[in-house]
Amino acid sequence: MREWNWLSEELDRLREQELYRTMTVLEGPQTTVVEAEGRPQRLFSSNNYLDLANDPEVKAAACEALEQYGVGAGGSRLTTGTGPLHVRLEEELARFKGREAALVFNTGYMANVGILSALMGRGDVIFSDQLNHASIIDGCRLSGAEVVVYRHNDMADLEEKLGAYRGRKGLIVSDGVFSMDGDLVPLPQLVELAKRYGVRTMIDEAHATGVVGATGRGTEEYYHMEGSVDVLMGTLSKAVGSEGGFVCGSKELIHYLINKARSFIFSTALSPVTMAAGLRGLQKIQEEPQRVAQLRDNMAFLCRELGRYGIPVQSDSAILPIIVGEEKRAMAAMEALKERGYYVSAIRYPTVARGSARLRVALMSSHTREELAGLAQALACVLGRNTER
Ligand SMILES: *Cc1c(COP(=O)(O)O)cnc(C)c1O
Repeated sequence: MREWNWLSEELDRLREQELYRTMTVLEGPQTTVVEAEGRPQRLFSSNNYLDLANDPEVKAAACEALEQYGVGAGGSRLTTGTGPLHVRLEEELARFKGREAALVFNTGYMANVGILSALMGRGDVIFSDQLNHASIIDGCRLSGAEVVVYRHNDMADLEEKLGAYRGRKGLIVSDGVFSMDGDLVPLPQLVELAKRYGVRTMIDEAHATGVVGATGRGTEEYYHMEGSVDVLMGTLSKAVGSEGGFVCGSKELIHYLINKARSFIFSTALSPVTMAAGLRGLQKIQEEPQRVAQLRDNMAFLCRELGRYGIPVQSDSAILPIIVGEEKRAMAAMEALKERGYYVSAIRYPTVARGSARLRVALMSSHTREELAGLAQALACVLGRNTER
């Protein structure tokens, strides 16, 4: 197959640059301890922040839906795929986020691509943070709108760019919690700028839902500015423990997306089993707010421990990036942590910029103090810090 030489050439190039990726199989459910490559690992890189993916009540709700509705949805949402659980989950999401209505997409990726391409088009302008998630970038590209990238969380730069495009139909889009950095969008300033320049706002709450704000309602709750974002997007695949993307907003916005978002229209609906798990997960976040509080306490504890080893870090989310720079170094650090029984993903280009490879530590509410202290010590060892104290 001579004509396919470029495949192996490209793969060789990736290997040379330490950018070649493979998948690791994790045995058992996604929780604080998993088995990888034949040995137990304490998992410190999952987005299952509240440990709901393996929660007995969530699983029971999924089992019940399985018995009652079977496995597949059988059609797209606009044909035969909408069941009572899809509707109930959307009602619950709207209530949780304090909006008139909500719509569930199959994934967060599909939600971003569908929303952005439906709302914006040729002649419009999207102002997008430099570190936004790939699904936002792809949605921007697909929309055909002009995409103006502003420096990460730099509101002065955003304002300059808003000024340069005054008078055009515009949308500012940003992650609420940045997925590889764990920092938060400066929402008060962003919303103020949007008002002043007459553009709309869209915030991606993938890593904020169930994590930030006193009761895990997200970025708006964190800043005490409920109801201020026009398009509130998120996913059920992270803290909620299930699968599926979502958007919350006005009834008009939701009806528009039902009619216009191609990734919503042209794909089979998620299974009722997945909807039941998402619904139960969302209810549990509200019934057991101590999970959200515990997650926050865990992050504060880990940061204190790392500080004692001379690694000064801080995070307002469940994500703590430890930037090591070179791709090779990040991969070596990940391997060394695995040797010690700690599973922390190394993140490289193209997920983050070249030369800013990192260990992405993600916490769960159910990690114990002992596990967190152990991780801090292992990180200190692997990063060559003095572990005598
Ligand atoms: C994970 C993620 C998504 C995609 O959500 P999925 O449900 O996993 O497809 C979108 N945006 C951000 C910021 C994310 O981190």
